[in-house]
Amino acid sequence: MKVDVIPDVCQGHARCQDRCPEVFSTDAVEGKCVILMADVPPELEQKARLAVKNCPEGALIIVSD
Ligand code: SF4
Repeated sequence: MKVDVIPDVCQGHARCQDRCPEVFSTDAVEGKCVILMADVPPELEQKARLAVKNCPEGALIIVSD
């Protein structure tokens, strides 16, 4: 599974980081999402999907399953 973020849509709530810190982090300056691991390994898929689902801005996308 591959994930990505739409930077202009991200508002920096950091919920993604809270849900799945292995895959998502936040930029120290603007607080916006930084993808640490675009290719999500199978063991983290469930957590990453939860993070995508919980982004209040819809800024995270699953590029491929
Ligand atoms: S939860 Fe969504 S809006 Fe918040 S930092 Fe993550 S991607 Fe950005």
